[in-house]
This record gives sequence, structure tokens and C-alpha cells, in this order.
Amino acid sequence: MRLLQPLVISLAMMLSVSYGAQGQPVSPQKPPKPPEDVPDLRTVKPIVVCGNCDQPFDTSTHKEVLEGLVSNKYVGELRKALYLQDTYHQFESKVHFDNCDFDDGIAYIDSLLAEVDRHVTAALAAQDEKDQAAVEASVLNAFFALGQALHGVQDFYAHTNYVELSVGQVKKSTDIDVVSPWKQSGKDRIKELISKGLVSGYVFWGFPQMCPKGTPAHADMAKDKATTPSGAVKVPHLENRNRYQIAVQLAREASQDLIDDAFRKWPLLKEVNGKHMAFEVLVDRRSL
Ligand SMILES: [Zn+2]
Repeated sequence: MRLLQPLVISLAMMLSVSYGAQGQPVSPQKPPKPPEDVPDLRTVKPIVVCGNCDQPFDTSTHKEVLEGLVSNKYVGELRKALYLQDTYHQFESKVHFDNCDFDDGIAYIDSLLAEVDRHVTAALAAQDEKDQAAVEASVLNAFFALGQALHGVQDFYAHTNYVELSVGQVKKSTDIDVVSPWKQSGKDRIKELISKGLVSGYVFWGFPQMCPKGTPAHADMAKDKATTPSGAVKVPHLENRNRYQIAVQLAREASQDLIDDAFRKWPLLKEVNGKHMAFEVLVDRRSL
């Protein structure tokens, strides 16, 4: 199946391209593969969260804490995963909550958290055997899988119409519920939202494609940046904030929630990494 997949994808892409009067293809072109590099933490605008802490993060110490995280290899591994999902899983709907592939998107995040669990179990076993190198390798793998899950969680807010469906229901943007796709409550909520019109953008080269006919294209729905057609739309009754800012706020809260849950469930991760974690919110390199 792994070998067949690229073939199936290229065949499907050939079939989906339509042709204009002059015989030229009129569908958008498949974008190139995004780069593999991960920018230095000091050159981006990351958020810093304190995982499973009693006190909320003190922003006055932000700069100092961030400096300390620049060379933290666990932070590096989590951020690497956040970026590489766009490079190595460019066409998989489930990885980015594209194409209304909600069931697979949820199952994928579940499978990644199960992977974190396996790596932590292996790390603990290696700890018993005093094999420090093996502990290290397993913990790094755990942070990578956690970063992959984080990417999906953030994409939920950027690639679906959840923000659009929610803004009319609230008086303040902070009243919008955070949906956590890895929790049962989040899964139930997504199911309920689908019956009320939750969709994600249609990506013609992404598979599978599960959207009802007439669903807007990814380019028209995505809120990865303040400059996208949907991201730029301002919401007058929510302090004129734009949808991108609202998507970032929700993705940020959900990310904090995921790190809290991870550090609570797998104390070893907090122990080796330290309580602070820094990462970007809404990384998107697929140039869709
Ligand atoms: Zn993505």
C-alpha cells in the first residue's frame, strides 16, 4: 500500500485536472514540497507554555525562558515535527484536518499519542536498565510524535470553519470553546458540529476527500495567516479582531491544553525537558 500510494495520488491528480478552451489545465497546480529546515527559535514568534503548572506562565520572564529553550533538544524535536508534517505528509488530509476528513484526523492524533505512550514506556524500561542513550532516544521520539499531534490540533482551527461557526454565538472571543480533538469531549463536539455545518477546506491534491459538494476551497477557508481571504476577515463585535487572530488564540489554548495533558500523563517528559515548552502556533509551509 505504501508503494501504491504515490501512484494512486498522481493518477487521481491527473483525473482531477480540468482543461480550458485552449486545452491548458485550469486547476491550481500541485505545490512543491516544502523545505525541511526548522528556523531558529530566536527568529520566529513562538509561544512559551508551562506544562501542567499551577501558576500560569509569567510573561515578564518570557525572554529569559526563551533564551534557555533555544538549545533544548526536546523543544527542538517537537518543533521539527511541527514543521515536517507539512513536508512529509503534504497530501494527507488527516494530518491537516483538510477535506472534511474529521474521523481520520481524530484517529491520527490518537495514534500519535499512543506512539508517545510507547516511546515513554520504552524510555522508562531503559531507565531501569540504566541505558541513558536509549532513554534519550525514546524521549526524543516521544517529543517528535507529540509535535506531530500538536500540528493536527492547531490545524483544526486554521483549516475548518469552526471560527466562522462560533463567532456569531459569543460576545467575547474568549467565550469560544476550545475543542480538544484528543479528548472524548472534543470528539463528541466535533461530531455534533459536523451536523451543524462544520467543514474544512477542499484541497484537490489531498486525500481522501470527504467534503460535501460545494464546500469552499482550502485557500478560501484557511486562517493560517492574517493575509488569507478568510484570515483577514474582521469580526466587528469581537473587538474587530480578525479570524486569523481568533484561530491563533484557540490553537494556542488547545496547544497549552495538550502539553498540560502530556506532562500530566507522562511526567518523564516534563522531568527531562523542564516545565517550559516553546513552539509556533499555526505553522503552514504548504503554500496552498
Ligand atoms: Zn498542516
